[in-house]
Amino acid sequence: MTDDNLLMMRYRLLWFIPVLFLSACSPEPVHETRFMMGTLVEFTIEGVPRATAMKAIAAAAGEMARIERKMSIYGPKDNPIKRFNRTPERTDFIFDDEIDKLLAMAVAIEAASGHAFHPALGSLNRLWGFSLDPPPSAPPKRDAIRRLLPAGGCLKRTGDHRWQRMTRSCQIDLGGIAKGYAIERGMAQLIQHGVRHALINAGGDIASIGDNMGKPWRIGIRHPRKPGGLLGWIHLKHNECIVTSGDYERFFMYHGKRYHHILDPRTGYPATRAIGTTVIAKEAALADAWSTALFVMGARGLEPLQQQGMAALVVRSDGTIIMNEAMQKRFHSIETR
Ligand code: AMP
Ligand code: MG
Repeated sequence: MTDDNLLMMRYRLLWFIPVLFLSACSPEPVHETRFMMGTLVEFTIEGVPRATAMKAIAAAAGEMARIERKMSIYGPKDNPIKRFNRTPERTDFIFDDEIDKLLAMAVAIEAASGHAFHPALGSLNRLWGFSLDPPPSAPPKRDAIRRLLPAGGCLKRTGDHRWQRMTRSCQIDLGGIAKGYAIERGMAQLIQHGVRHALINAGGDIASIGDNMGKPWRIGIRHPRKPGGLLGWIHLKHNECIVTSGDYERFFMYHGKRYHHILDPRTGYPATRAIGTTVIAKEAALADAWSTALFVMGARGLEPLQQQGMAALVVRSDGTIIMNEAMQKRFHSIETR
């Protein structure tokens, strides 16, 4: 072997060692999908061995299922929310710390959104039936809607962990915030298991931790009228969450008109000021509740979110996209014609 060949071999060895070392340090990303909370939940985990990732996902999914059991008004099993909804009006009901805190957040957002977000539409949501099996195919009778439409502010905290519903139709439904809360708690489980780079996507509610191994997570925002198409995309900053609400998630067509699952608490009918909304926040529960609120408020809800430091956008029924300043700075549009 000539000196030149020897040098070449040494060079090759030196080249291979860091490559092998790097691939041992950066295991393949793990993708897992589970069906929960009425939607597909996708976990993406980077930077830990597959066995660690799978253990972390099992713990996160277990935590999210616990929250669903505890807070959903659907399904055969009883839970504190269903018990509260059966309690006579104007009678104290004591919730545990977890529900007390989430309810306090929900009623604060109800007030801040001018009652566009309403955490006690339970009886009205059941009447419309978007979360029932089979799903509805015609709107309910106008009289029934009027009867079951609760006033804003009907859910009241009367003392430490104590809550009352002021009227018969006032029944808690956390469907507009609980998915966000659940992915937040799921993330906490991933972190406890040593995960530092991950995404959880529960049908448009996305929580993140860290980044995508040195690059920011790039998130596409779904086009409300083009299945599989995107409006645009954004880069998430560390640990941010992004939530999208749309009238395409649960809906039926009746006499040529679309009826969907986000109700305007002033009318009892599906909200009409938007067809899609997206909100970015530090906490997923906050982003979830505000994306539902913004859907009801329409573009006039963008400025209050700007004031609170949340980037947000609204897609109006004519397809125009309106953004607050925080969103304009980071939204990358995709031209789809
Ligand atoms: P999201 O998909 O997060 O926008 O929330 C929609 C779900 O929230 C519905 O399926 C209902 O359970 C509930 N919901 C509907 N309208 C409202 C509203 N105006 N405020 C709060 N929650 C609502
Ligand atoms: Mg929501």
